[in-house]
Amino acid sequence: MKLEVVKYGDPLLTKRAEEVTEFDKSLARLVDDMFETMYGAPGVGLAAPQVGILKRLFVMDCGSGKNPKQKVALINPVIETEEGDQSGDEGCLSFPGIYFQVKRPQRVTVKAQDLDGSYFTLDVMDLEARCVEHETDHLDGELFINYLSPLKRDLVKRKIKKRVKLGDW
Ligand SMILES: [Zn+2]
Repeated sequence: MKLEVVKYGDPLLTKRAEEVTEFDKSLARLVDDMFETMYGAPGVGLAAPQVGILKRLFVMDCGSGKNPKQKVALINPVIETEEGDQSGDEGCLSFPGIYFQVKRPQRVTVKAQDLDGSYFTLDVMDLEARCVEHETDHLDGELFINYLSPLKRDLVKRKIKKRVKLGDW
């Protein structure tokens, strides 16, 4: 089932999400629904707070469904190491149509749990590293506009306000 993605302005997006403690069927269903929502958007990553659920998990697939190895759900993710840096355009399903350059580490390792609660570690680079950083930020209520200078951030916020007025947000 496709879920509704909440947009910037919703207070849920700036709250810290809670640890997942129950690895049950409803968690598996949520992950399924989040994948469906992400692919449908389309997007390469989606965090639970973006669908109104304040739990620490996100899904990502930087291969857009072409490589099953890249389809992964990370539950209670913790970034363990960060290395190098990269600059590139970034977007967010909670900021439709808004893209800008964000500097991120080039390589990260992240420890997380799977649907059974087992721990695993991912070592990823480039777009996947960017995605892990962006989605983990969501779980702490951090949004990618926080990486902009105050001036640029105000510009983006003003653009969004206009779109809200036009009913386009
Ligand atoms: Zn996002």
